Amino acid sequence: MTNALEVNGLRKSYGEKAVLKGIDLCVRRGDVFSLLGVNGAGKTTALECIEGLRKYDGGRISVNGRIGIQLQSESLPAYIKGGEAIRLFAKWNRKTADASMLAALGTDNIIHKKYQEMSTGQKRRLHLALALISDPDIVFLDEPTAGLDIEGRISLHKYILHLKARGKTILLASHDMAEVESLCDSIAILKDGEIAFRGTVTELNEKVGKHYNIHVRTNQGVENYETDDIENSLIAILGNHQEKNTVIQSIRVDRGTLEQHFLKIAKGE
Ligand code: ATP
Repeated sequence: MTNALEVNGLRKSYGEKAVLKGIDLCVRRGDVFSLLGVNGAGKTTALECIEGLRKYDGGRISVNGRIGIQLQSESLPAYIKGGEAIRLFAKWNRKTADASMLAALGTDNIIHKKYQEMSTGQKRRLHLALALISDPDIVFLDEPTAGLDIEGRISLHKYILHLKARGKTILLASHDMAEVESLCDSIAILKDGEIAFRGTVTELNEKVGKHYNIHVRTNQGVENYETDDIENSLIAILGNHQEKNTVIQSIRVDRGTLEQHFLKIAKGE
């Protein structure tokens, strides 16, 4: 089986409210996958059903491998020290924490620190280390870089890609589209209890980004154009600026941002 995860017809309601109306998902082994959706779309519900933490009403979930779950924020006792938490989780898992993993996540300076005294970034790195102690095949990461500074984000992204290179499958919950774009092999968008899109980021951009945007920066300011005919539009723009004698400093062409495309699908905007 090359799929780390297969979900078929997953259904879950809270009372009268149907949150998941029979969703299908499939994640290939070794991929970084993200389930996206606006607040309240049902991402946490779906992930918790997959993680085995929440009962569901119907459907089939098959998880092919051992899982590791990054804890949500503030989930450890206030006075536990980083080193104690690592030893405790290692004992539960009957493993020794991998020293190179701990070093890569920079947990050295929180070994003697109480949980309540750790910064957001330190807590997130500790949570990730705890999720990885059992050397899981599939790692669930919940907003892993929220609240981190740029350096922290870059180093955590590097580590996620290192896990992928080691064949781990990553299920990422994130509201950060730049993060999704740079890390994910595939995504799915939840809307009204159903999967409104499933595929790669490039496929989403191609499906939704029907027009090209041209952004021109000149010594007079910034101009933005939308077009379907990129060659002729560029020729016209260049000719126009030559006539006006303005200096073009940069030209960028894109098909809209992932954020815009996500909103189009997730909110129907
Ligand atoms: P967010 O991005 O805000 O974290 P989400 O996509 O993860 O949202 P869920 O937390 O799965 O969404 O919630 C989906 C819907 O189910 C929401 O309307 C929420 O109010 C409702 N819900 C979640 N948990 C419960 C619960 N235990 N009991 C009743 N309703 C719930």
